[in-house]
Amino acid sequence: MDERVIGVDLGGTKILAGLVDRNGVVERHRETPTPTASQATLLDGLDDAVQALRDERVVAIGFGVPSQIDHSTGTIRGSVNIPLGTLSFRSTMEERFGLPVALDNDGNAAALGEYIAGAGRGSRSMLMFTLGTGCGGGVVQDGVLYRGWAEFGHVVIEFDGLPCQGFCHGRGHLEPYVTGVAATRIAQELFGPAADSHRLVRLANEGDGEAREALAGIGRRLGAGVASMCNVFGADLAVIGGGFGVAGYEWLAPAALETAKRDALDSAAETLRLARAELGTMAGLIGAGLLAFETV
Ligand SMILES: [Zn+2]
Repeated sequence: MDERVIGVDLGGTKILAGLVDRNGVVERHRETPTPTASQATLLDGLDDAVQALRDERVVAIGFGVPSQIDHSTGTIRGSVNIPLGTLSFRSTMEERFGLPVALDNDGNAAALGEYIAGAGRGSRSMLMFTLGTGCGGGVVQDGVLYRGWAEFGHVVIEFDGLPCQGFCHGRGHLEPYVTGVAATRIAQELFGPAADSHRLVRLANEGDGEAREALAGIGRRLGAGVASMCNVFGADLAVIGGGFGVAGYEWLAPAALETAKRDALDSAAETLRLARAELGTMAGLIGAGLLAFETV
């Protein structure tokens, strides 16, 4: 009954680790900068994060990583923002710590966290869209995490549209239209070079019509992505998370839902609803912990 796991959310700038119980409740947690000098220093940073929290109750460790994963072998196949190349991650960590290790993409981990312990409670089939500097995704159906890529940020919503962000060479993907980076670009077009996504949301909150319409425009693009994924997975709930997604939710969500209901198939549109993520930056850590419990 007293068993705990350690959930670790590895991000491009910080490592967030916590002691998690079976209900997804975090007993205590700590945040440290992500060492990005090399793969070795990064693995040492993960080591420190785990050892600082480990006690005799810990029975497994779960990692959410911003990487492509081969689930059959627990191997990382490459990462975009951190120095983790091809690596037998699960077996390496099991050897380091002498405990069972779970591994998944950070977006998937966050989706599971929200489904079990956050905004997804009570839903049957949930999509999660995480709008921060990038756009992540995740799918949970009947309590089971979909272990595919679920890279919602890279679904095409406009043929030959805007170039994607970062290292992605695609065009017209959802990501360049719906992230905080996209909101900053639009804010600067409207309000000058000093504006950013935070100011755009603040202006909307204060009643600025232009800012509200700009966020509604982002919301409609998001709605197109929600509808497309809904038509694949048949979801009844789309949870909107991430720093920008949560901050701008009030202005993004009505336009997103209207577009999503228009573009989703009838049977999905009838039951589809949106919700704001509830776990904030803790979603990935909690989900990684819940995955760790699945190994014991
Ligand atoms: Zn892309």
